[in-house]
Amino acid sequence: MAKKKVSDIDVSGKKVFVRVDYNVPMDSNGNITDYTRIDASLPTLRYLLEKGASVILASHLGRPKGRDPKYSLLPVQKALSERLGVNVKFVPDCIGEEVKKEIANLKPGEVLLLENVRFYKEEESNDENFAKQWADLVDVYVCDAFGSVHRAHASVEALPRIMKQQGKPAVAGFLVEKELEYLDNAISNPKRPFAAILGGSKVSTKIGVIESLLQKVDKLLIGGGMMFTFYKAMGLDVGNSLLEKEYVSTAFEILQKAKEKGVEIILPVDVVVTDNIENPQKIKVVAKNEIPADMIGVDIGPATIKLFSDELKNCKTIFWNGPLGVFEKDEFAKGTIEIAKVLANLKDAVKIIGGGDSAAAVAKAGVESKMTHISTGGGASLEFIEGKPLPGIVVLDDK
Ligand code: ADP
Ligand code: MG
Repeated sequence: MAKKKVSDIDVSGKKVFVRVDYNVPMDSNGNITDYTRIDASLPTLRYLLEKGASVILASHLGRPKGRDPKYSLLPVQKALSERLGVNVKFVPDCIGEEVKKEIANLKPGEVLLLENVRFYKEEESNDENFAKQWADLVDVYVCDAFGSVHRAHASVEALPRIMKQQGKPAVAGFLVEKELEYLDNAISNPKRPFAAILGGSKVSTKIGVIESLLQKVDKLLIGGGMMFTFYKAMGLDVGNSLLEKEYVSTAFEILQKAKEKGVEIILPVDVVVTDNIENPQKIKVVAKNEIPADMIGVDIGPATIKLFSDELKNCKTIFWNGPLGVFEKDEFAKGTIEIAKVLANLKDAVKIIGGGDSAAAVAKAGVESKMTHISTGGGASLEFIEGKPLPGIVVLDDK
């Protein structure tokens, strides 16, 4: 990696500010329902503690409008204390006098978790005066919040930038290092054949990703809600399925471009349709050219599952973003789950999963451990693949 990482610098006895991504899902009682992001931060934290650093942790959680106890990071304190085997301290604020005092008193080997940085609007506006308050209190900046590096926010961009101006190091943590390495390796240097599977709800949110992948892959398998805009571009009727009319011409251009590049685009040959997604009374499988006018396409059909598995069989690199159906509903999860299992059984392929819902789908299929890498950053991994500069990475010290 071209950026310095935490093991490249001296951290012992230092006050180290670590921007983590503890934007964890919680139920209505404030119980954490998935610990992936907390667990993903542990290698960096354990390393820092071993080296005798004092660790200050900052993260956002959700999208609070100002200070809102519903978005408190307090539940993370307990989970983190158990996992690290140290009593993680918590301050109910992320800046101000109390934070200043706690950081000053923090000893080597101790951990302090700050309250949600998004309780202040200055976080999202990348406010320099806000960030400087942290910069003045700490010696080292570590970015381990891969899920946030595509956002120029105060704890992600302004803070490391100001610390560098103060002559202090700003480096990547082990999670960020691993994410960049896997994504970059798969994308810039793939073992071929290289296939991408794209699904999810909309074409419009994935155009940049599709365009970028077209330059790199040998084949592109398309499912999910976006397949219907491609169907329309091919002159097929899609009934009441998700359709972005204003993107039909874009879909058409993508099909053309793929042809020119010699990239195979593989679209589903059959579809699971229903009368109602929330409360389905009728569910059936139809051929792609037989979608009834009053029904909604919600999953790929069995012939497509077979087609996709055959196409993937000989691939050596597979990048997957976007569920192939409305996988949140068990009735419509089959295509996504079956393809996840197909990937799981491919022994010598590099299998990279990007996207928040895609990661959840792989978890639902129970095959997480069979993937080469599941990115913890949905938006960040997609922007990386699009080739966009990630502000939270660009700002870090070069090697
Ligand atoms: P990711 O978070 O992995 O990038 P997206 O957010 O793009 O994925 O897409 C996930 C959503 O796409 C899911 O909520 C899923 O229900 C939806 N989806 C998949 N297939 C369809 C479909 N045929 N019609 C409507 N929505 C769909
Ligand atoms: Mg999503």
